[in-house]
Amino acid sequence: MSEPTAPPEVDLRPDPAADLAPFEALGRRSEGDPAPGTLEIVAEDPDSDARSCRLWTGHGPVETPCFMPVGTYGAVKGLLPEELRTVGSQVVLANAYHLTHRPGPERVRSLGGIHGFMHWPGPVLTDSGGYQVFSLRSLQKIDDSGVDYRTHFDGSKARMTPRSVLEAEAAIGPDICMILDHCPPGDADRSAMRAAMERTTRWAREAARLRRDILRPEQLCFGIVQGGTDLELRREHVDALAELDFDGYALGGLSVGEPIPKMHATFAAIAPRMPKHKPRYVMGIGTPADLLAAIRSGVDMFDCVIPSRHARNGQILTFQGRFNIRNGRFRTDDRPPDPDCACPVCSRFSRAYLRHLHVHNDPLYVRLATIHNLYFFHQWVAAQRQAIRAGNYAAVAAALDAVLAERRHPGDGAKG
Ligand SMILES: [Zn+2]
Repeated sequence: MSEPTAPPEVDLRPDPAADLAPFEALGRRSEGDPAPGTLEIVAEDPDSDARSCRLWTGHGPVETPCFMPVGTYGAVKGLLPEELRTVGSQVVLANAYHLTHRPGPERVRSLGGIHGFMHWPGPVLTDSGGYQVFSLRSLQKIDDSGVDYRTHFDGSKARMTPRSVLEAEAAIGPDICMILDHCPPGDADRSAMRAAMERTTRWAREAARLRRDILRPEQLCFGIVQGGTDLELRREHVDALAELDFDGYALGGLSVGEPIPKMHATFAAIAPRMPKHKPRYVMGIGTPADLLAAIRSGVDMFDCVIPSRHARNGQILTFQGRFNIRNGRFRTDDRPPDPDCACPVCSRFSRAYLRHLHVHNDPLYVRLATIHNLYFFHQWVAAQRQAIRAGNYAAVAAALDAVLAERRHPGDGAKG
C-alpha cells in the first residue's frame, strides 16, 4: 500500500492587498507604462482555462482575476477609499444611471470627475444603468434607438440611448465604460432572447462608432454579450461583438434567476471563446462558488453587491459559511467574526460586539461588517490569482472546492 501523499502546500488566506501597490501610489502612471487597454497575460493554468492578467488603465494596472466592489453612487457604503485598498479593492464600480440623475454628469465633471469627486485615485468602472432600467419597474418603451423610462428618483420621464450613455460616461470620467445593452429577464423565451441580443448588437455598433468622438482616448469601452444560458446564442453574439474591437468584453444577463449549474456551464463554454487578448468580465456575480467557476473558465473580472448588501443585512461571510450576527447565540461570543481571518475587524472585534452594534443600529456595525465581508471576497479571489501565477492553481482550486463543500450556513441555510 502506498503512503498517502501529503496535500500540496497552498495558501488559501493570503493578504488580498499583498500583491498590489499601496494606496499612496494608486493612480500614478509612470513613463514606460503600457497604454491603457493593454492586457498582459501573466500566467495561464495548464489544467483549466484559468488565467491571470494585468490590465492597464488610465489610473494604473489591475491584477486579475479581480473582484470589483459596487459603489453605485460613487461610494462603497460606509468605507473610506484607503480602507477599500486595505481590503484588496482595485477597481470600484459605479453606475452611470444613478450618477446621471443625481448629482448629474456635468456636476461630477466639475467636481473633479469621478476620481476626484470620490477621492479614489485608482481605476473606476461605470455600468451604463441599462440593467437598472430594464429590471426596475420603470421601463416605458424600448425601440431600436433607445429606451424610455421613468426614473426611480422622482418618476420623471427620461430616455437612454447608446449615445447618451457614452456622453454621461465621458463627463463622469471612469477608466472603463460599459455600453448600453438590452438585458432581458432570465426567463425570457428564445425569440425574446434573440431580439434583445440583436438590439444589443445594433447598439454596440453605434457605441463602437461614437466612442472615438465622445470618450477620451484613455477611457476603455467594453461590449456586452447577451444570450442568456443559450450557448448557441451566446456563441453567435460573442463572435458578432468581437468584430467591433471593444477594449474588453462582458457577459451580461447572468445571475438573473437562471439555475446555477446553467450559469456555470455558460462561463465554461463561452469565456474561453471570448477574445483572448481582451479582458473578460462577468457582470453581477456572485457567490464564492460562482467566482471559482468563473475563474476556472478564464474570466478576469466580476462585480457583485453581495459582500456589502449582506453586511448591511447582518450576514457575515466566512470560510466556514455565512451566519447572521443578529442571532442571540452571539450575545456572549467573544471570538472574532472569523477566527482565522486577518482582516482589520477580526484582529480586534468580537462577534458579541458586532451584534451589539447591529442591535443598536450603530453605523459602525455596517462599516465593520462590510470591511470583513469585502476582505473575505478579495481574499477568495487573491488566493486564486496568486496560485495561477505560482503555478499551483489546480491544488488551490481543489482546496477551495473542499471549503465550499464543507461550508455550513448556520444562520439560514442560504447560499453565499
Ligand atoms: Zn475578518
